[in-house]
Amino acid sequence: MSASAAARTLFTEAFGSRPAGIWSAPGRVNLIGEHTDYNDGFVLPFALPQRTHAAAGARGDGRIRVISTFDGAPVEVALDELDDLFPAHGTADRPTVPAWSAYPLGVAWALLHAAGPDAASGLDLAIASDVPIGAGLSSSAAIECAVAIALNDTWDLGLDRVALAAAARTAENDAVGAPTGIMDQMASLLGQPGAAVLLDCRSLEGTVVDLRLAEAGLALVVLDTGVTHAHATGGYRERRAACERGAQVLRVRALRDLTVADLPRAARQLDAETYRRVRHVVTENQRVLDTVRSLRTGGAGSIGELLLESHASMRDDFEISVPEVDTAVEAAMTAGAVGARMTGGGFGGAVIALVPSGRVDDVQDAAATAFAASGFAPPTTLRAEPSAGAGRDA
Ligand code: ADP
Ligand code: MG
Repeated sequence: MSASAAARTLFTEAFGSRPAGIWSAPGRVNLIGEHTDYNDGFVLPFALPQRTHAAAGARGDGRIRVISTFDGAPVEVALDELDDLFPAHGTADRPTVPAWSAYPLGVAWALLHAAGPDAASGLDLAIASDVPIGAGLSSSAAIECAVAIALNDTWDLGLDRVALAAAARTAENDAVGAPTGIMDQMASLLGQPGAAVLLDCRSLEGTVVDLRLAEAGLALVVLDTGVTHAHATGGYRERRAACERGAQVLRVRALRDLTVADLPRAARQLDAETYRRVRHVVTENQRVLDTVRSLRTGGAGSIGELLLESHASMRDDFEISVPEVDTAVEAAMTAGAVGARMTGGGFGGAVIALVPSGRVDDVQDAAATAFAASGFAPPTTLRAEPSAGAGRDA
């Protein structure tokens, strides 16, 4: 059954009525620009064909019920309880809800704050997805954005896509408690078939950039190492803190405000580790802009080296790669990829490879063989066809 049909069926089974509509939002892959989003910098993600579907229907009683195929039991709260569930900074004795439900309920909470408490009547919501979970493909943004766009229509909030992305991010940061940037939500809401979205994470301006993959005879492949990351913890927070420290010492609002010309000064003023972190972000921002320029002038075939440089920077300067990820990059290159890099927050997750269309199977086989030789669990691979952003399906 498709995820769309699954959401519809789940709705009817759980709530005993037909949904008013079905909305969906995709997962995303970032082509280049890693750990630049929370530094006010540039990213270049695109939307995946895999989507999270939300079947929704309004209720008149001010209550919200959510259910997901992910966890068979519905979660029910009153809309006016949301502020107790998600105070801006949690108090110890607040009521708790199942962890997954903080994503959809957090979006409802954030939207009510954005649109005003009178905006909503109540809601039933059933969720089904074919976005792999915890693979760095942002199943979290997919569920948030599917819910955000469903609520925007169902409650007639009239918010634009940038405002919906901001509410989805607020849900992830303040309701779930994961300190992520806004890239994933913008990609999920602004994606276009065949294109990536150049996002300026300071101005929130999104520019659609055609990838023209078919013209170049290329395909994008995701190799998921299956090693799980935990964005909400450890390494991610530590890297963010290093970036904030670097910006503070160098007296800029965010690392976005530095260019490669500032790096010698940074080397003098920062400790060696903070300097490497800063160097990754500064050079990565430049690589995103260079990638967009290369795509426009030389086509997709001309960005391979930039992808590889990005990977080396994450591995050596930002130190967020792991052996499985490096193995996947190396296997892809050996099998004929024109470029490959880790994508996502790091400490595991997935690799994106730019591959001649006729070599896709070779790359997948090479990764499987290399993983077996290293004693790693087999990677899962998917063809990442740049696809449409969030919308109403039925
Ligand atoms: P990623 O975004 O890389 O997939 P995250 O840890 O950021 O990984 O988000 C995954 C979490 O999002 C899941 O553990 C779950 O709580 C929630 N989630 C994602 N998709 C669904 C879904 N279809 N149903 C319920 N919860 C979901
Ligand atoms: Mg996520």
